[in-house]
Amino acid sequence: MRRISLFGATGTIGDNALQLVDLHPERFTIEVMSAHQNVEKLVALARRYQPKCLVIGDAEAAAQVKQSLADFSGDILIGEAGLVEAAQRPCDVTVMAIVGFAGLKPALAAAQLGHILALANKECLVAAGPLLMRQASQHNTTVLPIDSEHNAIFQLLDGRRADGLEKMILTASGGPFREASRSDLENVTPSMAVAHPNWDMGAKISVDSATLMNKGLELIEAHYLFQVAPEKLDVLVHPQSVVHGLVSFSDGSVLAQKGSPDMRTPLAHCMAYPERINAGVAPLDLAAIGSLTFAEPDRDLFPCLALAEAAMRAGGVIPTLLNGANEEAVAAFLAGRIGFLQIADLVADVLAQFADNSQDVASLEAIFAADHWAREKARIWLEKAA
Ligand code: MG
Repeated sequence: MRRISLFGATGTIGDNALQLVDLHPERFTIEVMSAHQNVEKLVALARRYQPKCLVIGDAEAAAQVKQSLADFSGDILIGEAGLVEAAQRPCDVTVMAIVGFAGLKPALAAAQLGHILALANKECLVAAGPLLMRQASQHNTTVLPIDSEHNAIFQLLDGRRADGLEKMILTASGGPFREASRSDLENVTPSMAVAHPNWDMGAKISVDSATLMNKGLELIEAHYLFQVAPEKLDVLVHPQSVVHGLVSFSDGSVLAQKGSPDMRTPLAHCMAYPERINAGVAPLDLAAIGSLTFAEPDRDLFPCLALAEAAMRAGGVIPTLLNGANEEAVAAFLAGRIGFLQIADLVADVLAQFADNSQDVASLEAIFAADHWAREKARIWLEKAA
């Protein structure tokens, strides 16, 4: 029996993880469930899965949870401190699916358990990759990526010598605006941006997919997770989202991992690792799909990708700044405060204001200071733009 601690239980990743628990009740039990603010859904999940510990965003929501679950005998914890405390509880697999930089402290706490840390949150690797990976290796924690492209690469490299590695390639669907023109992009609304053609995802990552920032963040994620040099990382647009990742070797071999675009596949890989379990996913029917196509991404139309690539090459705290500025920009776009094209403008302007990249990126203080600096500059930018 594996104890699963599920952070971000009420989101899309949470839904998919719990479908796997439903398929394998003899294999998984739930230790922790967290939600940011969805009291109703957390209460329903708690009744069904009987976790030992719940975490919710604030005291008011916690009071509602307590009232609704009068006979709940476990702990009900609150906010960031509650997340960190819950992340320290012993379990076998932590599924970390909190969105954004907010997942960093709980991920760092979970990395000390010496178990499997299954990461759906890419922002914590982008913002604090060296710190998180060092913490995990010091405590014998295995970090497994739930992100489909990284999960693909992990599967391709698992147990294989990586010394002849030439390229690590992440595929990108290209998002909903793959064939758009710049003038089309000027008029993109939040509801258009969150309607992804292949993947069913939360709002933040859907907007990131539409700007291609998601793919840029994923390059940085891969850089830290697999400790591979920036020049060996690349992106291929692949609209069918069947090939998720490729690795090429010096002898000319190129390995690719394929699967339907369904998060249950990488989740099953992480939750049962190193075993394989049924994920409830229909078999991949390549004959029905017929053709798989590939193209170069358009970095002029989607400057967020180039910004992220430059941040990866610069290293230091630049990826942290990129992430902080992007989170603020996406929130402003979703709130209707800025247009779609201004997301890249804001991130570029914030990064251009930064001069000193000599901070120690393995220190939590430096990471938080950089994140705070970027968000502050983003807020000033937004006030000026209003
Ligand atoms: Mg991905």
